[in-house]
This record gives sequence, C-alpha cells and structure tokens, in this order.
Amino acid sequence: MCGIIGYIGKKDAIPLVLNGLKNLEYRGYDSAGIGAIVNGELIVKKDVGKIDEVFSKINISSIGSNITIGHTRWATHGKVTKENAHPHTDCKNEIAIVHNGIIENYQELKKELISKGHVLKSETDSEIIAHLIEEEMKQRNFEDAFKKAIEKLKGSYAIVAINKNEKEMMGARKESPLVVGVSEDGYFIASDVPSFLDETKRVIYLYDGDVVVINNEIKIFNKGVEVKREIDSIEWDAEQAKKGVFKHFMLKEISEQAEVVKKAIMQDEKIIKEIVNAIKNAKGVYFVGCGTAYHACLEGSYIFSKVAKTHVNVCYAHEFPNYVHFLTPESLVIAISQSGETADTLAAIRAAKEKGAKVMSIVNVAGSTLVRESDKVLLQHAGPEICVLSTKSYTSQLTILVMLAYALVDKLDEAKSKLKELIRYIYYLTSKNTQEYIKKLAEKLKDARDIYLIGRDLQYPTALEAALKIKEVSYIHAEGFAGGELKHGNIALIEKGTPCIIFTSKENEEGIIANASELKARGAYVIGVGPRNSEVFDFFIKVRGAEEANSIVQIIPIQILAYQLAILRGLDPDRPRNLAKSVTVK
Ligand code: GLU
Repeated sequence: MCGIIGYIGKKDAIPLVLNGLKNLEYRGYDSAGIGAIVNGELIVKKDVGKIDEVFSKINISSIGSNITIGHTRWATHGKVTKENAHPHTDCKNEIAIVHNGIIENYQELKKELISKGHVLKSETDSEIIAHLIEEEMKQRNFEDAFKKAIEKLKGSYAIVAINKNEKEMMGARKESPLVVGVSEDGYFIASDVPSFLDETKRVIYLYDGDVVVINNEIKIFNKGVEVKREIDSIEWDAEQAKKGVFKHFMLKEISEQAEVVKKAIMQDEKIIKEIVNAIKNAKGVYFVGCGTAYHACLEGSYIFSKVAKTHVNVCYAHEFPNYVHFLTPESLVIAISQSGETADTLAAIRAAKEKGAKVMSIVNVAGSTLVRESDKVLLQHAGPEICVLSTKSYTSQLTILVMLAYALVDKLDEAKSKLKELIRYIYYLTSKNTQEYIKKLAEKLKDARDIYLIGRDLQYPTALEAALKIKEVSYIHAEGFAGGELKHGNIALIEKGTPCIIFTSKENEEGIIANASELKARGAYVIGVGPRNSEVFDFFIKVRGAEEANSIVQIIPIQILAYQLAILRGLDPDRPRNLAKSVTVK
C-alpha cells in the first residue's frame, strides 16, 4: 500500500524521486524517506509525517545523485517512527532498500541474521532484506546477492535496492505492484505509473516473481531465467494525474464523473458480448470486490436481477475463499477493482482459478495484475484516481454493470442511450450550484455524532456506499441500512436530531417514505435524496429519477457532502487517516 520509487540515469535523481513520491503519496503517508548515492556515499534521510512535512524536516534537495530511491510508508509491522520509516540499510550502511508488502517469515530470518552478528535498527519486517543482501554479498556480487536474498522471502513484496559501491538498481516483485518507467535518460522503478508520468509514458509492467536489474541496460529475470517484457505506452497524461484548478483530488475526481461515465460507455462491444456469453453459459456467476468496489458488485447484482433476470452471487473478495469449495470450471468470477492490485481481490481470483473457474474483471488501471490474470477485462478508462476515496471509479463501474445487464437481454443500445442522457445531468450534479447547496447541509451536519443512510432496493447499496464515503473522509460515524431492516433493530439508535439520509425512487416511494416517517416520529432530522420532495423531509436534495442507473446519480450529492464535511472539520479529504489507496496487503 506504500509508494516506492527509484531512479537511475543521467538526470539529477533526487528531485525526480521527490516529485515521484509526491505523486505517489495517495498510496500511504505515515512516513517517508529517500536513499541517494552521492559521490560513492549512501545518504539516507527519513522521518514521520506527510511527504511535505518530512521533506521540510530533512531538508534535502538536489545534491547531485544519479541513483536514488524513495518510499512513503503505510505501516504494517512496527509503529510509525523515524527508525521504522524506509529506506532501511545494512550494518555497514552501504545497501539501502525500500519495501512494500509484508515479509511473512521475517521473524525467523531476523533471528538467523542476529545470530550471524547483524544489528537491526527497526521493528519492521522490511529491514531484514538489506541485511540478507549484505550477508549474501560475503560470497557473491550485488546482483546475485539480491537474487539470493529474494529467494529466501515469503510473503508479498515490491522491493528496490541500491548499493553505494555499484551503479546499479535492483527490483523485485511478488503480489505487490512494481512497474518500470523507461525515459530518454534513465529508468524509474515505481509502485505506480503516476509517479513518473511527468518524465515518461513508456512503461514495462513487471510480472509476479520478476527480478529486474538496471545499470546501463535493463535485464529482467523470472525463476532464474532471463525474460523479455514489452514496453507499453500509457494512455494517461501527466495533467490527468494533477489537481489543476481544484483544491483537492477528491473534488477534481467527483467533478470528472460526467466525462468518466462517457468514457465507460465507450466499451469495446466485442468484449461486452464475450462477457455476456460467458455469463449466459456459466453455472454460477460471482461478483467479488472490496470496499467501494464491493458496493458496485452488490448494486450490480440488483441491476442484473431487475434488468436481465439473472442471478449473481455477491461476495467480499476477502470472504470469497469460503465459496471456492463449490466452484467448478463452469463457474464465472467477475472481479471489480479500480487499481487491479487489491491483494484480497487477487487472492480471490487466484483461488477461483485453482478450481478451474473463469475470471473476468472490471478494472481501471491497464497493465495491473488483475488485468493480466483475468481471462477477459473491461477497462474503465476513468483516468488516474489519486484521492484515497473512490468516487469516479465507482460511478464508472456502475455504468459498465448497467451496460452488461442490458447487453444480457440484447438491449445494449438502449442502455447506452439511457446513460448518455444522464451525462448532461451529471454535469449539473457536480456543478458549483450543487456544491453550494450541499454545503448548507454539510454546515448542519458537521458536528453530528452519527449519520444514518437508508435505502430500499437499488438504493440500498447506494446507502452503504454513501455511509462509507462519509466515514472515510469526515470520521463521523455513518452507517447504511436497508429500509426494511430499521424495525429489526436499527431504529433503536434514533434520537432527537439524529441525521438520517433517505434515498428514494419513483419505483418504490411508498416503503421508503414510510421509513422516513417512522424515523421522523422518533425525532430524526430527515434528509431526502431522490426525484420528489415530501413533507417528511427537513432537507431535500433533488436527484432526477434514472431507474436502474439511479445509483450513479444519487451517490454524487453524498460524495460532495462527504467532501464538504471533511473541509468543514478541517480534514484533508485526499489523505484520510489510516487509509491508503490500492490495498496491496491482505
Ligand atoms: N511492512 C512494511 C512496513 O511496515 C512495509 C509497509 C508498506 O508497504 O508501506 O514498514
């Protein structure tokens, strides 16, 4: 979940790595550091805090390095301290490494290293890697020592290592993302493409088990054998990965949703047809995802039932191993993930593949592991999503699910024209006017202890997703309920003034308005989101009815509300505490 970047080449490496780290900050930001080789010396600077804070503390700018690595941490082993921040070094301070992931056998390796006289300075699982290389270097050169050290590791990792005595940079990956950027003047190794987009759009996607050795040239090995990997070119441009006129990525990405829906509609119809055929022929279809993607899965299952009379099982990716027992080669798993690197989702599809099941996926990031490991892929083309919270990727995933559902009953064109009609409306929903209006609600709710979100039918997954948005970014306790569940327990939570946001639809107004009245009778402050106002609402956000696509439009005002709540509470919406984009550890 952290961000890694390394550069080796003719340019001044430190500013490139610092800029790369800024671009990667969304991946983890509890501490940061860099390791640079300067005149044959290894300089390591690191500290706790967000990137800007760390770099103002360590005060490092250009000091003439051509080999530098950097890291932004999302701690898994060891507290958030300066000692635990990366890079980590060996005993002699000659080798520096940065690591993303979890080394499962680190305790055993640590004991072994200590018994051989190594002195470890941190509590992390990562530091042992530097010492393992040091140990192996007693018998072999840096490249071979790195390869030997990697062979000893169990768990998940993306690693970059440098050695002050060598003009080389090593990288390795297993179950954690790592890509190589190829520029005119050198090479980057990084967790993600946006980190080096300012410098190059040419990329090599590394495979699981790849070890990369970069000096004057680049060599890639897998299982000890040299392999060839193609250089791809990236469709995103550097501007897309920048905030531009927006104060925060969250607001930028919310505002991009009309364009994103437009792009999602432009799917390759051949792939849609192939996926539709696979769904029709499968014995058992499963949607899997985590967090926001899981909510898209759940919503998708409602849409498939309603539009296509097709049953789909929905499961959190991390719970999916419980279902694999009855998977067969005729089962079909459809995985949804923005990054295509979500460790839980990858584990789910790998478990499914072991049973011979087919795997198809809806993914935003081209070249990601999920893309490579799926039999068929629908790419979202939503552009880079940098804010930790998923906004545009959610509406894009829903758009694709609506199209698949309609395609199942040979009505893809109907879906496309319905969705196209919505685009202008989404512009309106994301406009300044709407933002100003929602701000009034945010002012009322900014000190709330709890916010409840309630929906029925297609609006139930919307309620869950809306609650997730609010809690992730404002830290207000928010919970989504199905309207039908209220009386089965949840209504006990309602007190005078408790804010309740109710999602309504033309198709099912009666039931949900009855719920709203029950809440109001217990003193709730009732906020309606839907096509028609009601006397039961204390505050109303009008969102035009869009039938099966309701979820695409109804979530938008709540994304804006979540954003405004964060701002009013003095929080950073792009970097909520404890969270990181692209959850690459299980
Ligand atoms: N497990 C390592 C640590 O806790 C790496 C965490 C990360 O991926 O940022 O330092």
